[in-house]
Amino acid sequence: MNKNHLRLSKRLCGHHAYLPGEQPKSNLQVIKLNTNENPYPPSPSVQAAINQEIALLNLYPNPISGDLREVIADMHGLQASQIIVGNGSDDLLNLCVRTFSDDELKVGMLHPSYSLYEVLTSVQGSELIRVKFNDKDFTLNIADILASGTNLFFLTNPHAPSGKAYGLTQLRRLLKDYKGLLVIDEAYADFAPKNALPLLKEYENLIITRTLSKSYSLAGLRIGYAIGNPRIIEELDKVREVYNVDRLAQVGAKAALLDQKYFNECLKKVIDQRDLLAKVFEELGWPFIPSAANFIFVQPLGINGQASAKTAANLFHYLLENKILVRYFPKHPLTESYLRISIGNPSQMNKVVESIKEWTKKEKQR
Ligand code: PMP
Repeated sequence: MNKNHLRLSKRLCGHHAYLPGEQPKSNLQVIKLNTNENPYPPSPSVQAAINQEIALLNLYPNPISGDLREVIADMHGLQASQIIVGNGSDDLLNLCVRTFSDDELKVGMLHPSYSLYEVLTSVQGSELIRVKFNDKDFTLNIADILASGTNLFFLTNPHAPSGKAYGLTQLRRLLKDYKGLLVIDEAYADFAPKNALPLLKEYENLIITRTLSKSYSLAGLRIGYAIGNPRIIEELDKVREVYNVDRLAQVGAKAALLDQKYFNECLKKVIDQRDLLAKVFEELGWPFIPSAANFIFVQPLGINGQASAKTAANLFHYLLENKILVRYFPKHPLTESYLRISIGNPSQMNKVVESIKEWTKKEKQR
């Protein structure tokens, strides 16, 4: 193509797109444990609600997802004015960057954590400050976050990819002294014993983002929401795409949220499987970060009893050969010797454990 026809925005020189976890073709029959999806289908009431709505697709959706905001607000004991709904929580993370950062207002994130924050910040042309962890156990470095000089900070809690949960005492210390807006990305909070909702009454500089992609089995429908002070929500609403959530997503999400019985049943099954997998790693003597999410970040040990990038890569490929897809992050010293395994259903997890045990046997024979 002629170069003059493709004049990129200056901000995009050197920009790299987000690289999502692989989505293998459905006919390949792999056990897909690489993107923290829920192994169970959504509530049956989602299908019924969507079927009914199809006949209305000639009409635009409600631009503010009004009904859904009400349902979410009721569920959390909040006001609808504290809620904004998005096309997945990625949409809300994007809105935060658009609204609260520019060439002077910097963005911060834990490093490593969800790499989409970097991509969004790069598109906006804002400066990104990466705050490192205190140690290899992903201990939060509050002093460095406070000193980051950022106007917006993304704190993933439970953290991804480690699954570690940061407690309310730490979050309070941070919120009390942080001068910008703290976004607590709670994509995995439903799997955790605690969340940041009680802090909304105490601090105005807090935005919590949630998704229905994980705990509500709706990754394919694209629904997320953010909670915060009505003044914050008002500003985010000004930047939001007019019809950012389609009709099917609005009614499907509402149906899923209203079926709390089904939600709690699935949640329990996932948490039970997570705890069983943790026991297996304990028995194997493999280090892992105690997880408050729907995945476990584990450090496989080689025959010499040592963890290494080579060992993690080796197990990753072995599992892949056995049609089990997990996630490997080779690019950072804190993650290169780990694998992140999403929690599946009991039969998938049996297969994973079986394959891991076969791999350890093979390693011993080498
Ligand atoms: N935050 C974190 C930490 C995630 O891992 C994900 C899923 N990749 C998201 C947000 C986005 O979720 P969604 O856009 O599907 O709501």
